[in-house]
Amino acid sequence: HVIPDWTRFVSDMQIFFDQAAKDTSGQNAQYIPVLRDANPDLWGISFCSVDGQRWSVGDASVKFSLQSVCKPVTYAIGLATEGTDFMEQWIDVEPAGRPFNTQDLDPATQRPFNASLNSGAIMAAGVVASGFPPATEWKEIVDHVRAKWQELCGQEDVGFSMETFESEKATAYNNFAIAYNLKGRRGLPRDVDLHKMLDVYLGCCSIEITAEALSVVAATLANGGICPITGKEVFPALVVRTVLAETMTCGLYDQAGHFAVEVGLPAKSGVSGAILVMAPGVFGFCTFSPRLNAKGNSVRGIDFCKRLVNCYRLHIFEPE
Ligand code: GLN
Repeated sequence: HVIPDWTRFVSDMQIFFDQAAKDTSGQNAQYIPVLRDANPDLWGISFCSVDGQRWSVGDASVKFSLQSVCKPVTYAIGLATEGTDFMEQWIDVEPAGRPFNTQDLDPATQRPFNASLNSGAIMAAGVVASGFPPATEWKEIVDHVRAKWQELCGQEDVGFSMETFESEKATAYNNFAIAYNLKGRRGLPRDVDLHKMLDVYLGCCSIEITAEALSVVAATLANGGICPITGKEVFPALVVRTVLAETMTCGLYDQAGHFAVEVGLPAKSGVSGAILVMAPGVFGFCTFSPRLNAKGNSVRGIDFCKRLVNCYRLHIFEPE
């Protein structure tokens, strides 16, 4: 096993879990009722090693919407189906140092800076949507993406919240502005319909999952794209390498630099309170706690990650 003494390891994780639980700072995302009204005290963690050892604690089987945790997978689908060159035509891979909802695009090329920002993820949704015949409904495309999530977590239990989707859509003024900006400045891939592109993006944000299932997704990414539970290759290794590098440098937006220094692992957060973390070749894990810091990242999730790397040599720039 990659973690020889799993029992010892998880008893340490339990300690860090309990310590991080004491941090009740931050607040739930406020922009839609489902997130605003979620119990802020929810706190769960789930681990899955690349050889399939698993451990969960707390609210690891509570369902929540993916929100921005959807972004690396939409991007990976684009890379896998359209190739790196096509993706780079539409989305750059540079850290932006800007908040997730920024309207800014790269001034030289008018592309989104990266696929972790809303701008880049909306464009990635456009790329994926543009690969389907124009008459295809948004929901069919989201179901295709959802099927990918099922492969990544090696189980069927991936849902969709129409309630979340509808509130997202009713409040998505900033995302609409981003989409119009993309369309107006550079145009959209294969001239895909702007509204369909947004529906696919917001639909991906509204996919529902648990921390338990997400730990397997993280483990699949930490394992070069092969799901440790099913043994199936979900994404080619090169696609996963690109996604992890992008996630390492951009996944936590304008906190990505600090997280790289302090934790040193690729991670992707979402405003529902999840953080997906990959320790390449070792394990993946997911933390879930709805209270967010000013950058839209889960307070307890970050707290836990710092405790973990202070004790275990997981920071990718720490010599063995
Ligand atoms: N649905 C949210 C939005 O588009 C996702 C943002 C996030 O999780 N950071 O604004």
